[in-house]
Amino acid sequence: MKKLLFLFLLLASCDNVEEYYEDAYCIENINIIDAKQGLKENMTIIISKNEIIKIEKTSNFNLSKKNNIINGSGKFLIPGLWDSHVHFAFEEELASSMFNLFMAYGITSVRDTGGEINFLKEWKDKSKTNPDLYPRVKIAGPLIDGKFNVYNGNSVSFPPLSVRTASVKETEVQVKELIENGVDFLKAYEMLTPEQFGVITKIAKENGLKVSGHIPLSMDVITASNIGLNSIEHLRNIEMSSTSNMEELLTIRRNALENKKGLLGSSLRTSLHKSQRMSSIKNIDSVQLKKVLNVLAKNNTWQIPTLILYTGWAYQLYKGLEWRSTFDFLPIEIKEKWNSQIDIVESSVLNPDYTKDISDNSERKDFADWGQSMTRLMNKMDITFMAGTDTPIGWQTPGYSLHNELEMLVKSGFTSLEAIEAATYNPALYFNMEDKLGLIKEGYIADLIILSDNPLNNISNTKKIETVIKNGNLMNREFLNSLLKEQREKK
Ligand SMILES: [Zn+2]
Repeated sequence: MKKLLFLFLLLASCDNVEEYYEDAYCIENINIIDAKQGLKENMTIIISKNEIIKIEKTSNFNLSKKNNIINGSGKFLIPGLWDSHVHFAFEEELASSMFNLFMAYGITSVRDTGGEINFLKEWKDKSKTNPDLYPRVKIAGPLIDGKFNVYNGNSVSFPPLSVRTASVKETEVQVKELIENGVDFLKAYEMLTPEQFGVITKIAKENGLKVSGHIPLSMDVITASNIGLNSIEHLRNIEMSSTSNMEELLTIRRNALENKKGLLGSSLRTSLHKSQRMSSIKNIDSVQLKKVLNVLAKNNTWQIPTLILYTGWAYQLYKGLEWRSTFDFLPIEIKEKWNSQIDIVESSVLNPDYTKDISDNSERKDFADWGQSMTRLMNKMDITFMAGTDTPIGWQTPGYSLHNELEMLVKSGFTSLEAIEAATYNPALYFNMEDKLGLIKEGYIADLIILSDNPLNNISNTKKIETVIKNGNLMNREFLNSLLKEQREKK
């Protein structure tokens, strides 16, 4: 075997000797972009089975015509994208369409941030049965919430995404059970007590798992970060810890959380958001905010701001032609449901419950803008980000929505390459997979996208997808279109 390899290397190194790669394909003369190397022009990449086996300057190759060669001239290759905040369980009847939609939009991996464990395991297990065709699925299981849990299944807007834990002991039991069930990380939610939150981070550390979540309303962001919150979704509740009267606000919240009126968890949370969120944003204290951001930077507490969720809602971006055209790829019943929900919102009869926290339209815009300005500030301080969207919440078509989030990150001061990093290398790093995923390097898993235009010139070019490669499996535009069509025709 060694002798053969030597012979091959000798032959390959001689001029004029043609190289042939069996059981492989070669993408010739393509421009490669990843978060660590930036742009490398005119490269040839060899993929065999599910792996990138060789990358070199095209001029260094002398490929035999017998190879399976794909001409990449004028095109751009980026790593497969992650949507780091999705919910398979939010609209269960859409879940069976989500794999196709993700793949067609180049989302080769997703991180599900909350849902019933058995339902999620079903999708995670299914994705493993065909890694060539389905996105990689990482799951948290249910939101781990407190005694008055928010997502308790009491209304359509609050499906049972969470597990209620009424005591520290119950929290402990739940966390251990989730870990036994093979979750990839844990998600802590807003109605936990500090003691319950503490037990989650403690067990997570013992098991080498990360804890993501919303800052519990009973806590401030600095304490949560110090105790071991690894990442924050939606920048949630950071503002309440960034005013000069943050201690006073915290005391008010803690009293309210005793819930003497016996409100539903969702109503209790909404009332606290209503009373403290916008007033905090209007009264941010620059010294206190600086203190908060320094702690997040020092503790390496990551952010998944889901900017498109709030901006899409506040600025009614879902009315845009491109956004609405993606509804055509949804099963017809979902499309009709979303269209009628939007019509109802338009006629101002109903706000979806998750946006009830802010009823005033200009405040909604202020909140969305605040998210962008915080993102800009945090990125300047080298706080790490992941791109996530909360799809399908907010009428966000799975797959498509991630490209909108990339645009939002760039709008918030990211370079295009930083936006790509937030959707490729960073999630791989989050799940300790950075040695094999998220970059375009020899030995890495071949999860890749071929674009017809340069995303570094315009991040919207990530939508110009010609080919998606998942686990080495090459899917051309025609095939990707067939995946979309399959959804549309689903009854
Ligand atoms: Zn979410």
